[in-house]
Amino acid sequence: EAKRVGKGAYACYNDALHQAACARLDMEADLRRALRENEFVVFYQPIMRADDYGPSGYEALIRWMHPMRGMVSPLEFISVAERTGLIHDIGLWVLNQACREAASWQTEMTVSVNLSPIQFERPQLVDDVQQALVTSRLAPERLELEITESILLDSSQRNMTTLKALKALGVAIALDDFGTGYSSLHYLRSFPFDRIKIDRSFVDEICQSNEARAIIKAITSLGNSLDIKITAEGVEHLDQAEALQHEGCSHLQGYYFGRPAELVSEALTAGSAQPVRE
Ligand code: C2E
Ligand code: MG
Ligand code: MG
Ligand code: MG
Repeated sequence: EAKRVGKGAYACYNDALHQAACARLDMEADLRRALRENEFVVFYQPIMRADDYGPSGYEALIRWMHPMRGMVSPLEFISVAERTGLIHDIGLWVLNQACREAASWQTEMTVSVNLSPIQFERPQLVDDVQQALVTSRLAPERLELEITESILLDSSQRNMTTLKALKALGVAIALDDFGTGYSSLHYLRSFPFDRIKIDRSFVDEICQSNEARAIIKAITSLGNSLDIKITAEGVEHLDQAEALQHEGCSHLQGYYFGRPAELVSEALTAGSAQPVRE
């Protein structure tokens, strides 16, 4: 009996694995097609100065405009793109698109582009970034690259070398999702980050939790003494914005100020930080 149950469970497990593999294959093929057919779009979310709530730059966030499924979130497809290696092509597309669009804005605001840890496995990454700057004619000071600490996890010397080479191009480097990893503080010693982005999970709790507030305060005072800009992510309410500014955050980003949206340069020239379409 037990054997039969075991066998059944195995078959079932196998089946689930099989289904997951099939779904991944489907999505992989679909992602390839999407790249060919230009279904990706870059949305932009403003990053505000905490002192006057004026925009200092925009974060580029990819969206997939799927012909059948409608808009697909990066949370659904980036991990598949990472597992299949498609993230190299998708990441390169975002980088070029964001640089090109930012170069056309009639302002000096910065653009922040997220880099996947997988993109660091590609030896040409630094050349790709340099090439994107050259072709778009975007000044390097206007580009910021957001990385997560996972690229520094095994204190990989190669990734550190790549990071330094990127910084040497004149672009800024931001540490994204700060506070969610295992030994975040350690990484601040190993590389001169230009910006730390405090993860939304702390921001969510700032008005309820003294602990979250104390942690944010500690990060901002560290940031100030190391001359690192501190951005709080996921600001949804005015009371959060006020508390974050009070605790020393230099920049704020979140739905309270603006959702990610397509940007047309006229919106920027008109001096508005508000997205044109949501
Ligand atoms: P992230 O880089 O930490 O980006 C912030 C995410 O938080 C974005 O989700 C943004 O829309 C969302 N967000 C911003 N403000 C608020 C808020 O007030 N409340 C809430 N609940 N959420 C807020 P999104 O656009 O879905 O992107 C999710 C993640 O996907 C990003 O997290 C990033 O890790 C990844 N991603 C997005 N675009 C790219 C890309 O072009 N390349 C790579 N490698 N990853 C990307
Ligand atoms: Mg980011
Ligand atoms: Mg983040
Ligand atoms: Mg995140």
